[in-house]
Amino acid sequence: MTAAVRNGQPAPPFAPSAGGNGGRPMRFSVDAWDPSYGTNTEIEDFLAESTARVDVNVELPAGQWRAIDPDPGRPVPAALLFVDGVRRVEARVWIEDGAPGGEASMGLCASYAAGVVCCCGQQAHLVRFETRRGLFTVAPRADAIVTWAGEYTAHRTAATKQKPVPVILSESLQGRLRDVEVVTAVEARAAIAGHGVPEGRDLLVIDGPLRGRQHLPRALGYIKSHRTTYLPPDLNGLVAALSPGQRTPVFLAGTNWDRHTWYLRLPMAAGPAVAPWAGIVRIECSADLPSGEVIGLAGLSQVCLGRFASAEYKDARAPQNLYPIAGLERELRRRLGDPRLLQRALRLTAQAVTAPAVTAPAVTAPAVTAPAVTAPAVTAPR
Ligand SMILES: [Zn+2]
Repeated sequence: MTAAVRNGQPAPPFAPSAGGNGGRPMRFSVDAWDPSYGTNTEIEDFLAESTARVDVNVELPAGQWRAIDPDPGRPVPAALLFVDGVRRVEARVWIEDGAPGGEASMGLCASYAAGVVCCCGQQAHLVRFETRRGLFTVAPRADAIVTWAGEYTAHRTAATKQKPVPVILSESLQGRLRDVEVVTAVEARAAIAGHGVPEGRDLLVIDGPLRGRQHLPRALGYIKSHRTTYLPPDLNGLVAALSPGQRTPVFLAGTNWDRHTWYLRLPMAAGPAVAPWAGIVRIECSADLPSGEVIGLAGLSQVCLGRFASAEYKDARAPQNLYPIAGLERELRRRLGDPRLLQRALRLTAQAVTAPAVTAPAVTAPAVTAPAVTAPAVTAPR
């Protein structure tokens, strides 16, 4: 199988669907490829974020807001653990769930992966990674789709009237990705105990919002793009005035979830044409932490993130795209596999479960489910 993948040739044998549906393989079809499938998380985040409640008095009263300098004397963590996840939708599928007159249900076949890079001492190394494939669908009886190139585990979600199905499926995928990120982060923490990082001396930096990961100790969410204005205009002006290394005071932001957060300017190439928010990142930590601990984490973020800021010539999103995260993301994407092969494998499986040659007359739906087949067996003892 591996050889076939390497040669780019989809070769039989492939396994048909696991067929938990009375031995009958689940019938489905594959849509034409559209690269926009499942990439609307930014819109979801934006919608969720657009009604923020903000308390700016966590660290300093609003009237005393000022840029806060880094404290160079602050001890840095023995290890920084950078956590990231990637997702990719390989196909949109339509699942026939067998109900007479029933419509086909939409599903997304996606691969996703999470990993953790440890930066300890002078080196960065990959500690843990996990790759998964899933079929995300609202079809209540969907089974896994098994192809020669990989198995898509079924994740069924209930449809609701409040949200369009593509958004439900995308959120379901995002939720699973978050779960895998948490699992890999916890495992990575346990693993680095083996190479001399004292307990409690590490810091988790999760690429993206901390939502769903707030319970992890010593964890920061790292946000590179700014679509929502959280601060009132008189305080928001401070962000653009930050010097490299400086941060705003901590504030509390509540949307559909709560967190402590602050803005920080990373070190960057100086120049006359630098945009006001260039190098600005927003850091999050749990809303449940006492303010003293939060302010400690904010100070820590100032002294330990800057040295990972990427140089402009290396990364289009520099300097916000920290280079351990950029490297991790590349590695995770590579491990997702070739999307064209996976899509071809999905099409082959779809054809196999639909083709008359495979669903021979003896195993077609009417023969299996018709009362005539089962009735004699049931009534025989009488
Ligand atoms: Zn390490």
